[in-house]
Order: sequence, then structure tokens, then C-alpha cells
Amino acid sequence: MNILLTGGAGYIGSHTAVELINEGHEVIVVDNYSNSSPEIISRIGKVAGRLAAYDADAGDEEKMRQVFLKHKIDAVVHFAGYKAVAESVQQPLKYYENNLSSLIATLKTMKAFGVDTIIFSSSATVYGTSQTAPFDEGMGTGCTNPYGWTKLMCEQVLRDVAKAETGFTAVILRYFNPVGAHESGLLGEDPKGIPNNLMPYIQQVASGKLGKLSIFGNDYDTKDGTGIRDYIHVVDLAKGHVKALQYAQEHRGMEVFNLGTGKGYSVLEVVRAFERANGVEIPYQITARRKGDVAESYADVSKAQVVLGWKAGKTLEDMCRDAWNWQKQNPEGYKNSGRMQRQAKGL
Ligand code: NAD
Ligand code: UDP
Repeated sequence: MNILLTGGAGYIGSHTAVELINEGHEVIVVDNYSNSSPEIISRIGKVAGRLAAYDADAGDEEKMRQVFLKHKIDAVVHFAGYKAVAESVQQPLKYYENNLSSLIATLKTMKAFGVDTIIFSSSATVYGTSQTAPFDEGMGTGCTNPYGWTKLMCEQVLRDVAKAETGFTAVILRYFNPVGAHESGLLGEDPKGIPNNLMPYIQQVASGKLGKLSIFGNDYDTKDGTGIRDYIHVVDLAKGHVKALQYAQEHRGMEVFNLGTGKGYSVLEVVRAFERANGVEIPYQITARRKGDVAESYADVSKAQVVLGWKAGKTLEDMCRDAWNWQKQNPEGYKNSGRMQRQAKGL
């Protein structure tokens, strides 16, 4: 199949591109590189083989139309969007505009070209603060920040389109906490500035770029008082998209799946696992809780297991090892990685 990946140069998109190419699909990336770089397209090429890439905004209907004219698209995986929770609180309009307009322009273009299958990147954040883990897809939703609301709103858009259009398929994937990197060390997470998320922060402490980790609270009602999350290796997550696309070939309407491991680890457990897996020390201090954090978030993964036939296989140790391997090989992320090869075409 010819599969369009909006935001395909991003962290999850790049790993998914590799898995799709490995499965024999043609991959077409549309990315405006607002949070990535064309170098990533070369890296995907090195790991997996050829792909097409366009430097374009998924919210730009004219540019999307040109991509659909050039390629006979069979399905879309929509990763494009902004994802920083704290920034979304400070700049809500930026988030609502980009995350909603990129989905809507993509859906309009799909309709114009008769493309009826979309896989959408949602998040465990939509379970909000009032549910108790494990979270299952039937639970109520609610959000504490604009980023989360954009995900819920996009889910609603897809639900309504699926109701209105017979033959349309939307598979909504609620990711838990993607971490780790491709085992080649060529692809990984490259946050801009000081990382907000735990694993990239630990990686930069390990490399000496940051002095010590602040653990946000040790007074939660959890096994050791620190917050619990469902960390999932990004390659397992990427494989979940391959399964979701297979499912979408045989089903119509909208369906939601959690993609996680179903197992929760505390912040301290992650720190210790990273130290053990990599033989490094992670100095830390305990600080106040971070506003908006829930004590425990982990998935009920039975629906994805039974319906998609997908299960995460990699361990926390694999995640820590691959994250550190990527960090060591790319201390400045994708920057300074040799001459930037601008393979991506403008439109
Ligand atoms: P990322 O920032 O690495 O990737 C997103 C990509 O989309 C980037 O390459 C960025 O340049 C691009 N982009 C943004 N707006 C665009 C637009 N209008 N047009 C074209 N390209 C655009 O993020 P990621 O971690 O790979 O996340 C992918 C998706 O998964 C996002 O929608 C994110 O909200 C969602 N998600 C991520 C996580 C996570 O922890 N990483 C968790 C849950 C959900
Ligand atoms: N966390 C932490 N220090 C950090 C970053 C995160 O203690 O510098 C904690 C955070 O409070 C949460 C867990 O690590 O319990 C995972 O946080 P992350 O931001 O990675 O994911 P999210 O909270 O968005 O699920």
C-alpha cells in the first residue's frame, strides 16, 4: 500500500516509517519540520530504504492536494501535531490551530481523493484525572490541558466523520509513554531544549549535559511514592501502527485502541533500570509534584491484543539500553550529524 505519514519525520513517525517500509509498503512523508529535520528522512532511508518526503504543512490543503495528485494514497497515518503539554497551556491557540487544522485539512483532502482510511495518534492523556488505572477504551475521558483537549477534539471529529461517511475507517491509537530508540542508534527522540519528559531527561543526565534529575514528588499513593507510567518501546509502538493498518483494511467505522505494555513502572524504577542496563549513575533529587500529573497511568491492553493481535514485546531494560545507545551516538540529536542532506522536497 501507499501510506502517507503526516508528521512522519517525528519521533514516532520515523520509527513507524521504518516498520512500514520493512513490511513492503511505500511510505510518503509530509512534514513541515517544525519539530524535526530533513536529516531524519535520510536516516529512515539508511535504516529501511527509499521513501518520498515533502516539506509541507499538513494544514495546507493546496499542498496536501499536490501530494495526493503525485501519489495514489491508500491510507493515512496522521502524526502531525504539537505535543508539549506545558507549552499548550501557555499558547493554547497555537495548539488548537495546528492540531485541529492539520487533521481537518488531511480529512478534506482524503475525501476529495476518495481515500477512506486514517490512523490517528491520540494519547493516554485523554483519560484525564478522574479514572483509575488500568485505563480501558470504554472509560470516560476528560483533560487537564489544551494539548489533551486537541486530542479529544480530534477524536470527536473522527467519530463524527465515521458516522457521516459510510466506508470510512478511523483507528484511534491512544499511546501511553513512548520511549527508547531504534536499535541501530540512527533514530531516536530529539527534544528541543531541556526535555520535559522523564526518559530524555535521564538520557541527558547520563551524558552529563544536565546535572541531576528532579523527581516530581515521592508522596503519591504508589509503591515507592513516585509516579507510575506505562513506558512502551517506540519500535513496539511503531509495529502497533502496522497492525492497525491491517485491521483497517477489514473494518469500517471508528475504533479506539490503547497502545501500551499494560505494566506500570515508577520513576525510581525507571532510574534504577537505566542505571542497571547501562552501568551509569543518575543523580537525582526529590522536588515538588508537577501540576496536572496523575499518580498512576497504565493501559488495559487486552483490546489491542485480542482485536489487533498486537502486544508489546520489549522490556524496560531494552527501552533504557536503546535510549542510551541513541544518546551516546547522537549527543546533539540530529544536529551536527554531518552535512544535512536535504532529501525532502518542497512543493
Ligand atoms: P514529534 O514532534 O516528534 O512528531 C510530530 C511531527 O509532526 C514533527 O516532525 C513535526 O515537525 C510535525 N508537524 C507538526 N505540525 C505539523 C503540520 N501542521 N504539518 C506537518 N508536519 C507537522 O512527536 P511524536 O512524539 O512523534 O508524536 C507524534 C504524534 O503522537 C503527535 O500527534 C503526538 O501528539 C502524539 N503522541 C505523542 C506522545 C509522545 O509521548 N511522544 C504520546 C501520545 C501521543
Ligand atoms: N518526571 C519526573 N521528572 C522529570 C520528568 C518527569 O519525575 O524531569 C515524572 C513525572 O512526574 C511522571 C513520570 O516521570 O510521573 C513520567 O513523566 P513524563 O513527562 O515522561 O510523561 P507523562 O507524565 O506526560 O505521562
